[in-house]
Amino acid sequence: MLDADFFRRWLTAATAAVDREAARLTELDSPIGDADHGSNLQRGFVAVSAVLEKEAPATPGGVLTLAGRQLISTVGGASGPLYGTLLRRTGKALGDAPEVSGAELAAALRIGVDAVMTLGGAAPGDKTMIDALVPAVDALGTSFDAAATAAEQGALATTPMQARKGRASYLGERSIGHQDPGATSSALLIGALAEAAR
Ligand code: ADP
Ligand code: MG
Ligand code: MG
Repeated sequence: MLDADFFRRWLTAATAAVDREAARLTELDSPIGDADHGSNLQRGFVAVSAVLEKEAPATPGGVLTLAGRQLISTVGGASGPLYGTLLRRTGKALGDAPEVSGAELAAALRIGVDAVMTLGGAAPGDKTMIDALVPAVDALGTSFDAAATAAEQGALATTPMQARKGRASYLGERSIGHQDPGATSSALLIGALAEAAR
């Protein structure tokens, strides 16, 4: 079973991963965006770690909803409301149980990813974070490590795609040949989840 401490460890690992990879995320956001994805997420996750330490929510749902609200309020770019919605809706779906199963988490994350698709209007193949998140949620029934691998493969698979949502879509065909920064950060977040589970 996964308790509030597991979810805190996930977000701590995510904060460390975003911190470590911030320069690369911003570099990926240069040719097809505005070169701020790494700094956007770095600011957001530092704030998430700080508020979790201060308020120490006692349930998995409490941890994720607080983290999601913090991302929405601290990240100005498109990715803030999208990742904020992912965590907030996943947390809401977990309710106020003190512990949840892996299957309950997989079902809740599916609801969170669906909420991101509704908010942003992106579908798989549009070269966004969705291209890493959907395969990750699909593989979560197998294992956390399988989900991390699926997210990484999903991020790599965005390179030949033409962007149809977000800033990169303004480039049309010129968005082809570049890996999507948001799909790359999603792979980091799912990798951090697998790390917390080890
Ligand atoms: P901004 O584009 O506002 O500068 P970021 O650089 O932080 O925001 O985030 C860009 C990433 O957000 C993209 O690489 C993409 O994965 C994701 N993204 C942008 N728009 C959407 C959308 N409508 N749906 C899903 N993901 C999106
Ligand atoms: Mg950007
Ligand atoms: Mg921006």
